[in-house]
Amino acid sequence: MTSTERGIAAAEAHSAHNYHPLPVVVATAEGAWVTDVEGRRYLDMLAGYSALNFGHGNRRLLDAAKAQLERVTLTSRAFHHDRFADFCTQLAALCGMELVLPMNTGAEAVETAVKTARKWGYKVKGVPDGRAKIIVADNNFHGRTTTIISFSTDPEARADFGPYTPGFEIVPYGDLAALEAAVDADTVAVLLEPIQGEAGVLVPPPGYLAGVREVTRSRNVLFIADEIQSGLGRTGRTFACEHEDVVPDMYVLGKALGGGVVPVSAVVSSREVLGVYAPGEHGSTFGGNPLACAVALEVLAMLRTGEFQQQAVELGEHLHSELGLLVGGGAVDAVRGRGLWAGVDINPSRGTGREISEQLMARGVLAKDTHGATIRLAPPLVISKEDLDWGLDQLRGVLEG
Ligand SMILES: *Cc1c(COP(=O)(O)O)cnc(C)c1O
Repeated sequence: MTSTERGIAAAEAHSAHNYHPLPVVVATAEGAWVTDVEGRRYLDMLAGYSALNFGHGNRRLLDAAKAQLERVTLTSRAFHHDRFADFCTQLAALCGMELVLPMNTGAEAVETAVKTARKWGYKVKGVPDGRAKIIVADNNFHGRTTTIISFSTDPEARADFGPYTPGFEIVPYGDLAALEAAVDADTVAVLLEPIQGEAGVLVPPPGYLAGVREVTRSRNVLFIADEIQSGLGRTGRTFACEHEDVVPDMYVLGKALGGGVVPVSAVVSSREVLGVYAPGEHGSTFGGNPLACAVALEVLAMLRTGEFQQQAVELGEHLHSELGLLVGGGAVDAVRGRGLWAGVDINPSRGTGREISEQLMARGVLAKDTHGATIRLAPPLVISKEDLDWGLDQLRGVLEG
């Protein structure tokens, strides 16, 4: 047995099988590259579903984390700590918002957004108690809690986990008329991904986000943008909403906010919206802890330079022009995306997304299929053009082979 086989067998023997990982056991990583237990190197074209936008082992993030590890790591929110105010102030400023509510994982932040919108609906908008409705899109991915999977349209994510939380209406993604028709007097929020990541990097039709902004503003409904995967540089802007000059009422952030070092998530909004909370009404033991704040502060400093967004613009243009050349050759049916983020639909004649991912792995590229036939490419924003080209060469090699 190789050490890879031993590692996989041991993992499968003692963990729930809620994932189907590619057969690689990673031991170390740096930048856009990981090394497995047998010393083989792979280009990471998934980047932790965009949690690793700044690459593996980013020096600035590691230094910030190490310094904070030696000072204080956890206080709970029962006490103040000296990194909290800066984190909230600087994150609010990056978002052009007023208040921050920190959590840990993306799903917790989405849950927080749902709770916040409902409370805002009852306390500010005046919706009768228990009637608040939130409009969501089909093919959404917002996380894995019981409430969130209640409004998923993916049978894999949803089946056998009921009873389901009520209060959500699902409309087709990208269909503004359907969304507008679903808004009623009890509607408190529209919750959307500005680009649907898990669904296959689906970019909505031009004008959709701006249209949603207009409808929600005119009907006194909150526009909640789940930018957990699309945000923080991935698409070439700090937020994907910026591509349509849209400012939502609430950003939901996670993944890259923790720099791939620690889980950090947050809901960021106005005083009118996040001001609905009083002490004791919501919380999290780890939310906003000193280590999380220290790492996220470094993430925010890096985002303020704009260099990562610029890198995503430049390499993204290159990525999409190269991928565009593959369409129509028989192996690739369509390519979508924005910035350093692409969904590549593989023609079934070339195999499933899983098979293509395995063949990429054999050539030293780690990527992940989503929904059967789509390969999602989302390398760290720190990837070099040479490495990106090498990764694209491997993809071409697999598709031609
Ligand atoms: C990953 C993701 C989530 C859930 O985040 P977790 O940290 O896995 O709970 C929610 N929304 C979007 C858009 C995501 O990509």
